Amino acid sequence: MTTDTLQAFHLYIDGQFSDGTGDNARLVSVNPYTGAPWASVPEASDADVDHAVDAARRAFDTGPWSRYTPQQRAAVLRRLAALIERDAEKFARIESTDNGKLYREMLGQWRYLPEWLYYYAGLAVSDIGAVLPSDKPNFTAVTRREPVGVVAAITPWNSPGLLMLWKLAPALAAGCTFVVKPSEHTPVSTAAFAELIHEAQLPPGVFNVVTGGRRVGERLVAHAGIDKLAFTGSDAVGRSIAEAAARNFTRVSLELGGKSPQIVFDDANIELAANGVISGIFAATGQTCMAGSRLLVQRGIERPLVEAIVERARSIRLGDPTDPETQMGPVATRPQYEKILALIADATSEGARIAYGGKPAAQGGLFVEPTVLTGVSNDMRIAQDEVFGPVLSVIPFDDEAHAIALANDTRYGLAAGIWTEDVRRANRVALRVRAGSIWINAYRTVGPFAPFGGFGHSGIGRENGHAGLAEFQEVKTIWTEL
Ligand code: NAD
Repeated sequence: MTTDTLQAFHLYIDGQFSDGTGDNARLVSVNPYTGAPWASVPEASDADVDHAVDAARRAFDTGPWSRYTPQQRAAVLRRLAALIERDAEKFARIESTDNGKLYREMLGQWRYLPEWLYYYAGLAVSDIGAVLPSDKPNFTAVTRREPVGVVAAITPWNSPGLLMLWKLAPALAAGCTFVVKPSEHTPVSTAAFAELIHEAQLPPGVFNVVTGGRRVGERLVAHAGIDKLAFTGSDAVGRSIAEAAARNFTRVSLELGGKSPQIVFDDANIELAANGVISGIFAATGQTCMAGSRLLVQRGIERPLVEAIVERARSIRLGDPTDPETQMGPVATRPQYEKILALIADATSEGARIAYGGKPAAQGGLFVEPTVLTGVSNDMRIAQDEVFGPVLSVIPFDDEAHAIALANDTRYGLAAGIWTEDVRRANRVALRVRAGSIWINAYRTVGPFAPFGGFGHSGIGRENGHAGLAEFQEVKTIWTEL
């Protein structure tokens, strides 16, 4: 296929846009709604990856960036925030075209993202260390929080801009330099973001983009010039990244998958719970790490709750992600679409029943019906493996202890929702469910100040909040003899 007619985006290395050092192949981005190719980026070569890491290394070790005061770094973050505010619509359109998510949802995300930069600009100029209570009268001891160094960020296709900025904002606040590799399925917003970095006049080498697939990721991960790997993606790839990182003792944080429970007790407000369960699983066509994919429902209210959910699922409007009336778009890629249908078939062969959906949707293309499965037991594959699609598995429970046991019977631990009018019970359960984010009578709220990450196979480390900044810092203790 010729790539001449597609919008072309570039690598960004050491402050320069380029199409790579050699005769680089082009990676073509396909609009999942229309099926049409629409943009292309270069497939970075090994030499391009090395060039990007070397540039980031130089910028960290010797460049002007390493002499910036925290106040100057904070000013850079605020400048970038203002540029994102200006261009939020453009980036929302790019991402909606690249991954098929609703334009209005992407716009909401991009309009909120400057808050991450403002938040970390604030943290950059707050305390950066502590005076320690030395037990030796002739010594003082202080700590300093210093940048960890060169960061490589590897991101997935579902929210490329958000998941890059959750890493970039604290990394720059800490004083790190950055090389990012977006997913081969959705590289465009990250490549286009380099234009904002250029406009904000960050010193060359502070921010670099290399585009490509697994080979580019592997080259980056194995590179001895990287001090810290910040990865968001599947647990399978996360494991291989942790193994590769171990060879160079590279610091690593991993934000991986989930199989998050929505726990609905029999005293819950059923209408509110049904709304929360619906948005928890069907938002972004179920393609969110925090998707509430297991509905744990107290046995006595299973029927009315499932009826309320099915009624809402039936009214979800599928269609063009850029149409403001659309409520659910297509799945982002064909392999993902096939995986979702195969997991539904697997569940029904194990005895699950389809209360709603379960098939390719009438729209054709990569559309799957919002799907509600009943008769699921927690040991089925559909309840244990991440689907990353619009599939809700309903699992009844008898009492509080049973609900907690089911909630924790997973290798993941990213998030959970608890629906009850009993505040004591809500808090008891919140303390015992092993997951990084718990929502009580709510789901999917996040903020720059609120740490986000997983227990168990959902990952290592936290993004956002003070904890998110610490991921990009080393602690140094300085003793002085008096
Ligand atoms: P993926 O793991 O297939 O790919 C993620 C990134 O890793 C891509 O950029 C890919 O090119 C790269 N990659 C693939 N193999 C690699 C290797 N061997 N070495 C280095 N890099 C490699 O994930 P995906 O399908 O793009 O995204 C979906 C997954 O992301 C889901 O599991 C989802 O739960 C997870 N996710 C997690 C969070 C979170 O914050 N916990 C957020 C969003 C998505």
